[in-house]
Amino acid sequence: MKLRAVVLGAGFGGLELTTILSEALGDRLDLTLIDKNDAFYFGFSKLDVMVGHEKPANVRVPYHHINKPGVKFRREEITSIDPAAKRVKTDKAVYDADVLVIALGSDYDFKATPGLVEYGHEFYSLEGAERLSKLLPNFSKGRIVIGVSGTPFKCPPAPSEAALMLHDYLTKRGVRKNCEITLAMPFGVPIPPSPETSQALLVAFAERNITFVPKKTVVALDPGKSVVQFDDNSTLPYDLYLGIPKHCVPAVVASSGLTEEGWVVPNPKNLKTKFPGVYAVGDVTRIGPPKAGLFAEGAAKVAAATILADLQGGEYPAAYDGAGTCYIEFGGGKVGRVDVKFLAGPTPTGRYFAPSTDLVVEKKYFGSSRRARWFGLR
Ligand SMILES: Cc1cc2nc3c(=O)[nH]c(=O)nc-3n(C[C@H](O)[C@H](O)[C@H](O)COP(=O)(O)OP(=O)(O)OC[C@H]3O[C@@H](n4cnc5c(N)ncnc54)[C@H](O)[C@@H]3O)c2cc1C
Repeated sequence: MKLRAVVLGAGFGGLELTTILSEALGDRLDLTLIDKNDAFYFGFSKLDVMVGHEKPANVRVPYHHINKPGVKFRREEITSIDPAAKRVKTDKAVYDADVLVIALGSDYDFKATPGLVEYGHEFYSLEGAERLSKLLPNFSKGRIVIGVSGTPFKCPPAPSEAALMLHDYLTKRGVRKNCEITLAMPFGVPIPPSPETSQALLVAFAERNITFVPKKTVVALDPGKSVVQFDDNSTLPYDLYLGIPKHCVPAVVASSGLTEEGWVVPNPKNLKTKFPGVYAVGDVTRIGPPKAGLFAEGAAKVAAATILADLQGGEYPAAYDGAGTCYIEFGGGKVGRVDVKFLAGPTPTGRYFAPSTDLVVEKKYFGSSRRARWFGLR
């Protein structure tokens, strides 16, 4: 008998889990991987698109490259999930599963920040980054504010990276002296689990005249006065606002009965939800680790190993430790790195690696190795 698996979402989590099951089971697998998009792209490529380092077409990895034993990719929009019946409906078909994996990532609730869509910009979607890439060449003078509309949000280093990359971008154009860059965040420091990384970023901001404003969450943009409004009633004037929108689960997950206080909360040790045979991995969950690709991948590895142990007998994997790595663009052609562990001890811990050109190479390999593993691309 083949294992009938349905994997919802072909991002970091869904692709890694699909790859492991295909490698382990081959033709004993009947797996359908569903995503509404026709291509995958790395989150960090949005920053590259924003500042013109990459064209949007170059960062897309089309799903038609997926060619794995036992795996079918379907480009369809998931419209309902019944976790008790392990039944999924899409705009084109109905799927029944023995094992159902929810890896649908997080969505953006733009409306939660009044004024954001009308008077602000964002680089958290590829479309938003592309719009900014067209607007930035005409921005030569004024106040840029980067702000965050709530936690949790994807890739906590990304707002800091955006500030540092914008500094380089404006410097290269010779207009940095006419521009102010301010980064406001809900956290007290840029990367709370790693004081060393936070300190290095604060030094980098100070060296580049980037103002860091801690412990402030953006609640609205006031178009009349061109000010950002924060949760403590303070305001900050801007000419160009780059916002990280409030995050939420995709609507189809919200209506599935899988969420608790807005997120899916599987058992952190093995990623099983309260519904037998239903797993959840990655940004759609809230179990402690941040929303970033390598954490989604780590959870997918443990979920896949648990699915295989349930199916074939044998050893269960060690509990998910919430460990992952984030590469951080420091500007000036250098990349730093922080390794963080969220679930292995009483408090999260982080290890910092100073920015270097070696880490630029390592980050490139991080991308190319996934392209090879998931899509067979060299
Ligand atoms: C600016 C930025 C920079 C980042 N930099 C990094 C970085 O350097 N390193 C890092 O590790 N992470 C980074 N990230 C975060 C990373 O991209 C995410 O954390 C990661 O993609 C999460 O993986 P996932 O599998 O949980 O979800 P995703 O990768 O988001 O995948 C979810 C998939 O579900 C699909 N989907 C959703 N709803 C439906 C539906 N109804 N029907 C069908 N399909 C649907 C989506 O199309 C998507 O492909 C960054 C993110 C941003 C925005």
